[in-house]
Amino acid sequence: MKQKQQCDECEVELEQTYLQDAQNRRISLVTDESKGGILGLLGEKEKLTPVSYVCPECRRIEFYVED
Ligand SMILES: [Zn+2]
Repeated sequence: MKQKQQCDECEVELEQTYLQDAQNRRISLVTDESKGGILGLLGEKEKLTPVSYVCPECRRIEFYVED
């Protein structure tokens, strides 16, 4: 993942934010890949955690997946 996220338009630093639902649970992206191991055998899919970067100037959002 890139270190400092900058807006290409405004050249200001983007603010890091996380997606949460109303119960403060992080939102996951579910892939079609099996999680592997015993949970994978039970049909569990691999999940990715998205991080979003918001530009405070133009309100643009960039999404990345956490390592
Ligand atoms: Zn911007």
